[in-house]
Amino acid sequence: MIDWEFVQVAVEAPLSHPLTYRLPKDLAAQASTGSRVRVPLGKRSSAMGVLLGQGAASEKFEIKDISAIVDEPFLGEKTLKWLKWLAQYYLHPPGQVYSLAFAPGAEFRKKKSNKRSPTFLREAEGKTSKAAPTPNADQKGAIDSIAKSVSEGKYETFLLYGITGSGKTEVYLRTIENVLALNKQALVLVPEISLTPQLIRRFVERFGENVAVIHSHLTPRERADQWWSAVKGEKKILIGARSALFCPLENLGLIIVDEEHEGSFKQEEQLKYNARDAAIMRAQFSSCPIVLGSATPSLESWHNVKLQKYKLLKLPNRVENRPLPVIEIVDMRLEKENRREKGFVDRPYWMSELLNNEIVQVLNNKEQGALFLNRRGFAQFVICQSCGFTESCPHCSVTLTAHNRGLRLDCHYCGFQKQIPRLCTSCTKDIYTSVGLGTESVAEDLKKLFPDSRIARADRDEINSRESLEALLDKINNHEVDLIVGTQMIAKGHDFPNLTLVGAILADVGLHFPDFRSSERTFQLLTQVAGRAGRHQKAGKVIIQTYIPEHPAIQFAMKHDFENFSQQELKFREELNYPPFGKLASIRVQGTDLAKVEKSADDAKLRILNLQKINSDYNNLEILGPCEAPMAKVRGKYRYHLLLKVISAKMMNAFLQHLTQNLDWLEPGVKLSVDVDPLHLL
Ligand code: ADP
Ligand code: ZN
Repeated sequence: MIDWEFVQVAVEAPLSHPLTYRLPKDLAAQASTGSRVRVPLGKRSSAMGVLLGQGAASEKFEIKDISAIVDEPFLGEKTLKWLKWLAQYYLHPPGQVYSLAFAPGAEFRKKKSNKRSPTFLREAEGKTSKAAPTPNADQKGAIDSIAKSVSEGKYETFLLYGITGSGKTEVYLRTIENVLALNKQALVLVPEISLTPQLIRRFVERFGENVAVIHSHLTPRERADQWWSAVKGEKKILIGARSALFCPLENLGLIIVDEEHEGSFKQEEQLKYNARDAAIMRAQFSSCPIVLGSATPSLESWHNVKLQKYKLLKLPNRVENRPLPVIEIVDMRLEKENRREKGFVDRPYWMSELLNNEIVQVLNNKEQGALFLNRRGFAQFVICQSCGFTESCPHCSVTLTAHNRGLRLDCHYCGFQKQIPRLCTSCTKDIYTSVGLGTESVAEDLKKLFPDSRIARADRDEINSRESLEALLDKINNHEVDLIVGTQMIAKGHDFPNLTLVGAILADVGLHFPDFRSSERTFQLLTQVAGRAGRHQKAGKVIIQTYIPEHPAIQFAMKHDFENFSQQELKFREELNYPPFGKLASIRVQGTDLAKVEKSADDAKLRILNLQKINSDYNNLEILGPCEAPMAKVRGKYRYHLLLKVISAKMMNAFLQHLTQNLDWLEPGVKLSVDVDPLHLL
């Protein structure tokens, strides 16, 4: 019940501010701050919005009436404050941010839901619960520290740094027990790809019907059911990928972000938020602790531990003191000679003698091996042997990748495909040859080398849905395949009992990206990949093949030495003022007319410099660009970008507000987007 005549409404439209509406008397009884409303907007007769608070009459504008209050639970105060922060920090239209806290598929709430749990929960519910392991001393220390904050109901960020297989999930489960004892709710965020039946089962075995799960494979009705069962408090635990963070839980007692270093917590389109960072703010507004878990924490989080903003909890050993796998590095520069001397001319160049021998042994022992290569396809590109022409995408500035045994060419950015021409498009004299490895060609080579083994591929060409991923995981668990070739898709989080050999085919792939995080990413990936091997009774072995064995990311990964790796890497970041020391934002300007894009990019820089001129505090500003983005053209649009580097989040926000509060200075047809704390600079 509200008795204001005028109210502020954040309308779901690209507007930088809420609008004022009149609340008709007959709707006032149902209305409340945080209600979802329908309003007229411009020519549209009906747009959705959220009622934010009292508004004021205006002489200048005609004020329209709210047309309806939508019958849905309204957003509580803590949620509203957090959403407001999100819109400001990431410079996204508030109405579009608020709308994310309403479950899509709300129309299903009216119809009676059949109350049957989705399949993944039904399967898990039938299981008799296994006895929970007794926590070891390190786990107990972590559980007790978090329990204290949970019971005090105060905000604190914990970084649970536990090596692979150290029992982090068990810490989460025990901690959630403490949350339930206080009759509060727990929110667990995991990367979409780790949200496997295996993981869900562990939660359901412990907490039965108290678990709600949101992931991309639910029907709209299932999604709405899971969402509302958590909002209404029928279920106390909500597990989901990043978007579950928007579920408006008002009684939060704990947030967990597993694999906090994962890039997939960052949404790269529309609201470009990082769910880990947004979750920390959510915990602050909710006065509850948050636990960030990882075997390879992000340097941002590690730095915050050093600054004593986060509290460090360490699990330095695998459970039951199982050994970490032995990691061996193969210097591929020496392999060519080796191959010639020993007469292994038939073996593909990417396969070292050591890796080959280990695969033979794994197959003899009836165990499993996994080979990782972070590049899918049959070949990286094709080139004409006579004139050197390469086939590139007509819409994007990249070469096309060969797939389907080199018969088809794909663009990995826009999805463009074509059959490979029989002769070179340019000189029409010669045929193309394939250059560069991909998971598809590695799998082909393996089939020839080990014709009796069962080989599966795990990349986005083979695995394009949640169902196909789960089917593959089952196959690996049931030992229906012997060798797996994959991208990072299956590199993380999984626990395969019979997997004893892991090979990184070309560890250097990620090191050549023009991105200051490439070293950190490679270290993380190698550590995660290595963590898949030998997690059970059988010992594991890891082989890293590389042409730059002396690279720190590779050396420290070999020694399982996160702490020294990050110390060295942080020093380098500090020298260059990169995050976590400086703050970054990338500003992208794009459009179909190159000249207009260039002009707007220059104007953007001028506007920022103008603000700096009138504000003497703003002297610590670096602007890189404007220049062509590394991907200079995508889907037919030219892209320019600027990179801002400043020393504080507050200053960054001031510059970006100034730049985006109105956009009428942009050339017609040109779009501007801002990415605060960008993870990828392409
Ligand atoms: P992480 O999440 O750190 O990779 P998990 O929590 O998945 O590790 O633990 C690995 C395995 O060890 C799981 O099967 C888990 O049930 C088991 N486990 C966890 N804690 C203990 C413990 N204290 N004693 C014995 N086994 C444990
Ligand atoms: Zn393309």
